[in-house]
Amino acid sequence: MKIKIRKGDQVQVISGKDRGKRGDVTRGEVIKVLPKDGQVVVQGVNIRKKHQRQVQTQGRTVNPGIVEYEAPIQISNVMLVCPKCSKPTRIGLRRDDDQTTRVCKECGADID
Ligand SMILES: [Zn+2]
Repeated sequence: MKIKIRKGDQVQVISGKDRGKRGDVTRGEVIKVLPKDGQVVVQGVNIRKKHQRQVQTQGRTVNPGIVEYEAPIQISNVMLVCPKCSKPTRIGLRRDDDQTTRVCKECGADID
């Protein structure tokens, strides 16, 4: 399956434990796409904590403590939020001569 979500997109989480608490919707910016795993990392979503020992990386010392980080989630659990109509939408593709433009299926606007 071709991945239509890109880094920098706003997405809405549509399933999983991060689906809105109290009916709120969880939205965030895609900060990483992992095409091989079919996963994305979304800012502020699926926060995990890990205990960090003091380590040396590239000459820097990282202090021990609890580090919070966003774990990847399945791409099927997010929907793109259209920048034009700000609704979560499926993505259509429109093929012009040599490039493909993503299109919002809600309002029909070009997304790119
Ligand atoms: Zn739209």
